[in-house]
Amino acid sequence: MTISRRVVLGAGALACLSSAWPAHAKSEPALHQRLICLDTHLDTPANLARPGWDMMRRHAYASDFTQVDYPRMVEGGLDGGFFAIYTPQGPLDAAGMMAARDAALLRAAEIREMVAAHPKAFELAFDAEDAVRIAASGKRIVYQSIENSYPLGDDITLLRSFYKLGVRMVGFIHFKNNQFGDSATDKPQWNGLSPKGRELAALANDLGMVIDASHAADSVFDQLIEISRSPIILSHSGCRAVHDHPRNIDDDRIKRLAAKGGTIQINSYNAYLIEVPRDPERDKARGALYQKLENLSAMTPVQAAAAVNQVADGMKAINAQYPQPRATFETYMQHVTHALDLVGPDHVGVGCDWDGGGGVSGMDDVAAIPRITERLVKLGYTESQLAGFWGGNALRVLKAAQQAHAA
Ligand SMILES: [Zn+2]
Repeated sequence: MTISRRVVLGAGALACLSSAWPAHAKSEPALHQRLICLDTHLDTPANLARPGWDMMRRHAYASDFTQVDYPRMVEGGLDGGFFAIYTPQGPLDAAGMMAARDAALLRAAEIREMVAAHPKAFELAFDAEDAVRIAASGKRIVYQSIENSYPLGDDITLLRSFYKLGVRMVGFIHFKNNQFGDSATDKPQWNGLSPKGRELAALANDLGMVIDASHAADSVFDQLIEISRSPIILSHSGCRAVHDHPRNIDDDRIKRLAAKGGTIQINSYNAYLIEVPRDPERDKARGALYQKLENLSAMTPVQAAAAVNQVADGMKAINAQYPQPRATFETYMQHVTHALDLVGPDHVGVGCDWDGGGGVSGMDDVAAIPRITERLVKLGYTESQLAGFWGGNALRVLKAAQQAHAA
């Protein structure tokens, strides 16, 4: 990009860097490109091992369902974010935990390999301060996070190794309850955190990692808010007052999160934004189709591309046969503006779940995120407020986690 990159972080974030901006920003794409824009939940690492898939090449959501690559990050002004080491929840036994541990360590290695392979385009980030320096150098910022701590198994000291690999944010739980506590989308088992979950929270604080309560049950959220020595984050969640879903969070909890200095990063996952009726026939057809992708990593690039194309075509047919409502950009903005109205721009940001099921009609991939800025400028948000919303708030939470470690 030829646009000069003045680096801005949000008011109340790294404040010394954010004082030189006019009170009212102009609505122009240059403004968006000037901001450090981070998304706190990128599931893109799941694509890195796809044979033939190239982070440096522009892909299209319509043809391979991906939403983030270097060209689209540049186009959309996404400077980076937290690249998730996601592991699906499996059985809580020794074999399941061992397999999950190996998968998570490999995923972490894949993220580092991607960055190492493209040193002019990407750089690993570890501390809150790294974002400004990396953005100023014109590279994309790669923080790492864990989504689902199940791979830690029975020995949470493995979190130390992930920390050394660069992981700075840790989500304990995913769709199902695990050894650390209850999921938002499962029946209560521990009534919040398990004893091991409490140990994990203490260790995350000791290491200086941000605790992420997205996917956790309300009871877990309440306990984490209580025991964490630094503000927590909801890396990809929505507002229950806009759409009543257990993966979203109610106003009272958003207020408590903000009162403790935390931030909610608004998700763009369809079924959490609007009511999507369950359709077993559609699920069955989709499940059968996706089996074609099961052995993707064992395929040649040509075979993998063919399988992805088949699934993309198959999904078009399924969408035609079993149509499903899809949330729009307007719906997404309802969640964003609700949170902003409730707790103000220092406690809200973006965590779209790209490459993990995110995306709405009118904002299919990261290339479209300037729309968010355009809308918020129209609503009167200032450049420094937008700088917080887009990155400064998350970095403030990371910095606080680092400081809690140091304390
Ligand atoms: Zn998720």
